[in-house]
Amino acid sequence: ETSAKIIDGKSIAKQIRDEISAEISRMKDNIGVVPGLAVILVGDRKDSATYVRNKKKACESVGINSYEVHLPEDSTEQEVLKHISGFNDDPSVHGILVQLPLPSHMNEQNILNSVCIEKDVDGFHPLNIGRLAMCGREPLFVPCTPKGCIELLHRYGVPIEGKRAVVIGRSNIVGTPAALLLQREDATVSVVHSRTKNPEVITRQADIIISAVGQPNMVRGSWIKPGAVVIDVGINPVEDAKSARGYRLVGDVCHEEACKTASAVTPVPGGVGPMTIAMLLSNTLTSAKRMHNFK
Ligand code: NDP
Repeated sequence: ETSAKIIDGKSIAKQIRDEISAEISRMKDNIGVVPGLAVILVGDRKDSATYVRNKKKACESVGINSYEVHLPEDSTEQEVLKHISGFNDDPSVHGILVQLPLPSHMNEQNILNSVCIEKDVDGFHPLNIGRLAMCGREPLFVPCTPKGCIELLHRYGVPIEGKRAVVIGRSNIVGTPAALLLQREDATVSVVHSRTKNPEVITRQADIIISAVGQPNMVRGSWIKPGAVVIDVGINPVEDAKSARGYRLVGDVCHEEACKTASAVTPVPGGVGPMTIAMLLSNTLTSAKRMHNFK
């Protein structure tokens, strides 16, 4: 009965990493520059540590130098700012990433504002988000997860122009920039959030659904218009006695049901996750090329 095409983020991400790797060799051979990414991790959240480890591994795999600073949970905001300022001034660093969420005693806004926009490879600086939201302006960087979603649509040949898109979730790091990007691609976009009435009715109008909520199996088959394309950003642990870790990861979308209605769906894991990291590498390469004026 399953009919939807499974969008293979893992293999597309691999393809993109190979492209990046080749570009990095070409740059190194021509001008002797190797891109560098600095990652700042504060505290001991397990999921954050895993993300940082995966990002470092990915850097190594394409030939990007990575520099990691790991600060204790009770560090001060000033300490974080001091490291950012050091990386802002360091010419071997082309990208700076502060792993979120930060401990609650820190002001996230101050910290994200302090990353110089030329090295803001996460695309979270308000100037970059502001430009993303404006017609005729170009951000220096676009946030990695939404950029990865759009890249999947492009590489699978999904038309966006003139289509109806629904983004579920409005966070600064995923939902909102995803909606802005779809709008820049000439989709007609609705944003569904926790106060939306009848979200299933709105979602069912969409040709393209991007879900970034953090609720396992919230989007049911009945929410999906037959033939729609579904990008599932959610990463949600659910109990699973059969798994060695005691849990497994699922998306926001009921995958089994979506497979029966949608024309294409991303899996979790193996969909958007690997694309996010590939886009981070891509942004870091773009930054190094721009700083050294390498075409
Ligand atoms: P946030 O918690 O910051 O935002 C969640 C959004 O979902 C909010 O806008 C919230 O609405 C909305 N929401 C919550 N409950 C409902 C509901 N019942 N109905 C409709 N909308 C709802 O999460 P993030 O954006 O940071 O992340 C979302 C998910 O994506 C998480 O599972 C996260 O793990 C995953 N993620 C995956 C990444 C990847 O690389 N694949 C990267 C980043 C995140 P409101 O604004 O009204 O509160």
